Amino acid sequence: MTSRVQEGSAGRILVVEDEAHIAEGIRFNLEQEGYEVEVVGDGRAAVGLLAGSETDSSDRVGDRPFDLVILDLMLPEMNGFEVARRTRASGNFVAILMLTARDDGSDVVRGLEEGADDYLTKPFRLDELLARVRVLLRRRRWDGVEAPSEPLPDVTVGRAVIHFDRFSIETPEETVNLTTREVGLLRALVDREGETVTRGELLQEVWGLRPDTKTRVIDSFIVRLRRYLERDPAHPEHIISVRGRGYRFER
Ligand code: CA
Repeated sequence: MTSRVQEGSAGRILVVEDEAHIAEGIRFNLEQEGYEVEVVGDGRAAVGLLAGSETDSSDRVGDRPFDLVILDLMLPEMNGFEVARRTRASGNFVAILMLTARDDGSDVVRGLEEGADDYLTKPFRLDELLARVRVLLRRRRWDGVEAPSEPLPDVTVGRAVIHFDRFSIETPEETVNLTTREVGLLRALVDREGETVTRGELLQEVWGLRPDTKTRVIDSFIVRLRRYLERDPAHPEHIISVRGRGYRFER
């Protein structure tokens, strides 16, 4: 799945939110920042736009793909979890920022498991939303503004090259854009090449979750990374499972 931000736009964003005043507030602020924004008010319509198969999408032909989705959890027709799940199942790995109503942890964990890259708890400040949006889009449009002081150099893994600074993996066939969590997970493993990094350490470092959180979020991300990096994802040579403990990266 590749997509590129075109010249002249800071990025194309889909806002999925049924509360009109919130949706319009988000739209106004994003447009002020130069983003191109589309708003839909229910989950089924969102899946139609993102997966392209649930509703008639003939009028969308020719539109370029979205760079980011701001996805409310509570929606008519289909909730945000289901929208994220169906979007990922269709092979669309667009960045997803989920808006949750409660910060009790369970919604957050479920959202991350269904494929959200980041989350924000309502009510949120608009400047905080804009900051998250910038971070999530950085993978597609690296402007160096918030560049880490010592960025990792490119890492060659088999036939693939990981460009940490550009949030992408390049293979002879394609360039794959990575999400912030994918980059975080890769960095956590590459930084400790040859060592086992435990699941608890990854949950804490990459997702900001408690190390004992019961979740399969790491597993689904590992599946994705292996698909990008491994010659045969069923027999990984670079991202190796260490039974009962975690994962080890080998170049
Ligand atoms: Ca809502």
